[in-house]
Amino acid sequence: MAGRNFLFVPGPTNVPDRILRAMSVASEDHRSPDFPALTRACLDGLKPIFKTATGHPIIFPSSGTGCWEAALTNCLDPGAKVLIARFGQFSHLWADMCRRLGFEVELIETLWGEGAPVDKYLAALESDRSRSIKAVLVCQNETATGVRSDVAAIRGAMDSVKHPALLMVDAVSALASIDFRMDEWGVDVCISGSQKGLMLPAGLGITCISRKALETAKRTSSRRCYFDFGDMIQANAGGYFPYTPSLQMMCALRESLTMLAEEGLENVFRRHSYLAAGARAAVMQGWKLKLCAVAPQWYSDTVTAVMVPAGVDAVAVIARAYTRYNLSLGAGLSKVAGKLFRIGHVGDLNELMLLGAIAGSEMAMLDVGMNIEPGSGVAAAQTYWRKP
Ligand code: PLP
Repeated sequence: MAGRNFLFVPGPTNVPDRILRAMSVASEDHRSPDFPALTRACLDGLKPIFKTATGHPIIFPSSGTGCWEAALTNCLDPGAKVLIARFGQFSHLWADMCRRLGFEVELIETLWGEGAPVDKYLAALESDRSRSIKAVLVCQNETATGVRSDVAAIRGAMDSVKHPALLMVDAVSALASIDFRMDEWGVDVCISGSQKGLMLPAGLGITCISRKALETAKRTSSRRCYFDFGDMIQANAGGYFPYTPSLQMMCALRESLTMLAEEGLENVFRRHSYLAAGARAAVMQGWKLKLCAVAPQWYSDTVTAVMVPAGVDAVAVIARAYTRYNLSLGAGLSKVAGKLFRIGHVGDLNELMLLGAIAGSEMAMLDVGMNIEPGSGVAAAQTYWRKP
């Protein structure tokens, strides 16, 4: 099909040309005396992205899922208990991984469309008199439903009952696009990946661990090897890795960190928030459709999940968008399969790019027979963005 594919899934995202050029380099010896400069540029450059002065950024050759596993197997003893709310496919998968790795899961079932319920976390922590919960897990941005959670409030709940558990946050679709504060929020492990806000191809698991998490990892006896925090921190101290790192991906990461610093992280957050508000205007004011997120407090700035009316199959909208308009939209996953489609607006994008996705979604919805006003979504987003 002529023209570029419009990649509007909520990750992997569009990779800027500057990053593609930066990664187009020959391989080098990863044990050479020159290599540590690249390692340090990446690890030091990640600190402001996590907003940490004391944490250790870690780069695993994995995706975000590998970092979930690393967090659990490094910081918990076998069979330890974790507390997690499930309100979408990704919080579900993380809870499922905990079970499959043999950890005990205290699950807070939550409506898909809401975020982490702080009151229920608090109640669970308060009643945990024996302090058997060893880690509190929160998904900051549930990509499957377009819902954001308040991590600072979860930390507040933990502190209010002086609960000593570790706080682990999935920021896979939040980091470098929605504010995240490792030190201020007392996060012990933050989990992310390269293919969303960092604007890179998939392939790097990007995580950050607090001193407390590192100290805990020295004492725990869960089995791990490839994902051992201690091995990584030790090798990184000299500028190296315990195994062969991807030089090209690290060159790409260095460029991404430069781009984020040039734009300014707070400006990056503002851009995401402003673009997301335009996307929501298209859905609610233009198309008169509902979001999966049930109230403004949960609205995500990186992904908008659009509910289609009963009787319409969202899979048909997504298929039409792809085959006719070369537009990739995100699908509804598991419980919400067929009920919604997702417009990702994360990474390197601006109003006109997002208008393309809104226009394409609109045409696909019309093509499958949905009753929406042609041009209404585009007009609503434009009206929002053209406000002085
Ligand atoms: N957590 C969230 C919130 C995600 O959106 C994703 C992937 O989209 C993951 C975890 C899994 O990450 P990955 O696919 O990079 O392994």
